[in-house]
Amino acid sequence: MGQPMKTELDLSRRPDAPALPASLAGLSLPALKQAMLDFGVAETQTGMRAKQLRRWLHHIGTREFADMTDLSKELRAELTHAFTLDRPDITEHKVSVDGTQKWLVRFAPGVEGESVYIPAVSKTGALCVSSQVGCTLNCTFCHTGTQKLVRNLTAQEIVSQVMIARDGLGEWPASAEGRQLTNIVFMGMGEPLYNLDNVAEAIDTLSDGEGMCIGRRRITVSTAGIAPKIPELGARTGAMLAISLHAVRDDLRDELVPINRKYDLQTLFEAIRAYPGLNNSKRVTFEYVMLKGINDSPAEAHDLVKLLKGVPAKINLIPFNPWPNSPYECSDWNVIEAFAAIVNRAGYASPIRTPRGRDIFAACGQLRSESIKKSAAEKRREALAEQAAQS
Ligand code: SAH
Repeated sequence: MGQPMKTELDLSRRPDAPALPASLAGLSLPALKQAMLDFGVAETQTGMRAKQLRRWLHHIGTREFADMTDLSKELRAELTHAFTLDRPDITEHKVSVDGTQKWLVRFAPGVEGESVYIPAVSKTGALCVSSQVGCTLNCTFCHTGTQKLVRNLTAQEIVSQVMIARDGLGEWPASAEGRQLTNIVFMGMGEPLYNLDNVAEAIDTLSDGEGMCIGRRRITVSTAGIAPKIPELGARTGAMLAISLHAVRDDLRDELVPINRKYDLQTLFEAIRAYPGLNNSKRVTFEYVMLKGINDSPAEAHDLVKLLKGVPAKINLIPFNPWPNSPYECSDWNVIEAFAAIVNRAGYASPIRTPRGRDIFAACGQLRSESIKKSAAEKRREALAEQAAQS
């Protein structure tokens, strides 16, 4: 009695509070909660506010705070002053003759990455997202591998790629029947297992049934083989596993996928066997790029079958997609078919991946951005220039 009524916002805490994120779109539930706390929402209410925001942002796809009718007018007005609901800028959007779409997304000044939507015939469609800008792995057949690592993407930046695709496809709310975007594959730029914390946080947000609604079984993470992180990926995310295998002997794999020098085939397969929950309905996808005269002989197809013994597996044969001055050629079609036939006869599904979006340079391994690694001084200068431009 006699006490002043406690208002929802305690703005007196703001001056020494940590920096707030500019946009709330794509933040995970814990990050939304933290943002509300730092903003000054009473601690007892942050959980509820984060859940309300999750629904508006990630389920409904709201672009305006004004739409959030279960938040008080006062709170909506305050939020509008402090945050945006913006996605990162789209620098380029291309649509292929085969329906594939590619977005070049600008996450920050000089930090651009690509995502690709690949419609399938069977009323499903996958979005291929990037987990890093650039890559450290230097696989010799991959265009991204010719680009240095610029940086890891944050969980928010990964989720925002899916939000951009949903905006483009007009697929809000997230639970809509007959969605075109049903699956997510971490097969864009970068090595997801070198950015596992952010990838796991992004998967939590994407798979949230009250939010983006893409089940964990519909999310596949592809790795070049960072063996010690493979069982951890399964335990933390429950996602489907894909392995970029490409060679069945260590000497050749050392050359094509140089991380094999650190984690050889034996180490890799021990880690794969330790992936939690593998069975015939949860199989590992093995990706195998078909390189003319390099890894495409019938003997290698037989060795592949031997190598996979005891692992619930499916094999994805990927015709090599060329890029400017790439050092390989794609195997001839009859060679790919002969390879597939050997693997099929051994009882493995081995679809040949139809190249999609080659005309817009969106096919596997063709992604590369013009972003370059900047020195700390350059980054500071850019950040200052950006601040000055905004004020
Ligand atoms: N770093 C992860 C994810 C990115 S690559 C990984 O290595 O799995 C996604 C898939 O595209 C991988 O299987 C990769 O080996 C394949 N790929 C890369 N370059 C390619 C190219 N030029 N043609 C066909 N597939 C390619």
